[in-house]
Amino acid sequence: MSDLLARHRAVLPNWSPLYYEQPIEIVRGKGNRVVDAEGRSYLDFFAGILTNMIGYDVPEVRQAVERQLATGVVHTSTLYLLRTQIELAEKIAGLSGIPDAKVFFTNSGTEANETALLLATHARRSDQVLAMRQSYHGRSFGAIAVTSNRGWKNNALSPLNAHFLHGADRHLPQFRGMSDEAYIEACVADLRHVLATATAPDVAALIAEPIQGVGGFTMAPDGLFAAYKQVLDEEGILFISDEVQTGWGRTGESFFGIQAHGVTPDMMTFAKGLGNGFAVGGVVARGDLMDGPKAIGLSTFGGNPIAMAAASATLDYVLDHDLQSRAAVTGAVLIDGLREAAPRLPIVGGVRGKGLMFAVDLVDPATGEPSPPLAARMLEETKKLGLLVGKGGLYGHALRMAPPLTLTEDEAREGLGLLVAALETVNEEAA
Ligand code: PLP
Repeated sequence: MSDLLARHRAVLPNWSPLYYEQPIEIVRGKGNRVVDAEGRSYLDFFAGILTNMIGYDVPEVRQAVERQLATGVVHTSTLYLLRTQIELAEKIAGLSGIPDAKVFFTNSGTEANETALLLATHARRSDQVLAMRQSYHGRSFGAIAVTSNRGWKNNALSPLNAHFLHGADRHLPQFRGMSDEAYIEACVADLRHVLATATAPDVAALIAEPIQGVGGFTMAPDGLFAAYKQVLDEEGILFISDEVQTGWGRTGESFFGIQAHGVTPDMMTFAKGLGNGFAVGGVVARGDLMDGPKAIGLSTFGGNPIAMAAASATLDYVLDHDLQSRAAVTGAVLIDGLREAAPRLPIVGGVRGKGLMFAVDLVDPATGEPSPPLAARMLEETKKLGLLVGKGGLYGHALRMAPPLTLTEDEAREGLGLLVAALETVNEEAA
């Protein structure tokens, strides 16, 4: 064990995950690549954790932060007017498609979801919430209550009363082979059954990820969220779209993931990529919901000048360079390329994704069952070839890729080559 790893283990919690048998220390980054302390360079297909949305060391972001630093005002609090915060909120409210939207900034996705849940439970005077199976929404009391993935829930207790819905769990035997239409019908019947039998009469909200992040980039079929929304509207239940992973054009087909489903949520939460590495999160919600409760109050660091400078520069960069369209193109190179290779690789159980958010399921070639060990092996093999990827899924069997949106087509083809090469090696070993 390296000295640094030993020191890490001594003072950091054992439940805070570290990738790789020999974890790496990243010391530099430029464009879509990083360099570790040993001088090895990697193409980054996980972008931090979808945080370095426009790559590393972006002059526009660095200069915006440096300009703010040069004023001497790193922080004074949101008790005073802050121009960058107002301008950024105006842009996000406009992009959200939510009528009369208002924005509250936080420092993380967890806090964003906590805020949305506070707003919803307050508005509806109910502690009952709906969430999706395989979900991950963060690590606070409220966020963990609506997280169904046990690996990430850490068996925590929580004050909220959560009920979990089907929608992204087609692998269950009873759903296998069902048409989308039949599956959606079954899901809606289940939702109505939950509302009729499992919850107290008033339910505050449904919180859902348009594409489940930690859940392995799993997706509800087109039409499911619209069908759910119809029931929610009938019952006066709010819909919170967790866009922490799916926001800012990453999916290629819409700016926020839920927009592709033709659904206007009551609130959206965001974080990760917006600050391009600086800690920024937030909630964008219907004005009447945001303005209602007085229970929340200010966040000392949420919306701070440095975060706002970084976030404004990042969002402008995404819009000015139309990175959503680019994600659609580079994502297609990768997803199509992986699908083409899959039939000759029995360890590949499936390839799914939208834009620059795509995953490969690793399965035991003999049984077709999810194989966490093969996913772990793939992590090591891709690292060896100079490619950083993520891992996730219900059983830890999915390889998750979410490169910076600035990925070029050449880099997409390079990364595809490395992924396929790693899959071939691991496939051969497993044969
Ligand atoms: N929501 C989703 C969909 C996430 O993927 C995450 C983090 O992975 C969170 C919320 C929590 O965000 P954070 O880690 O910034 O608190």
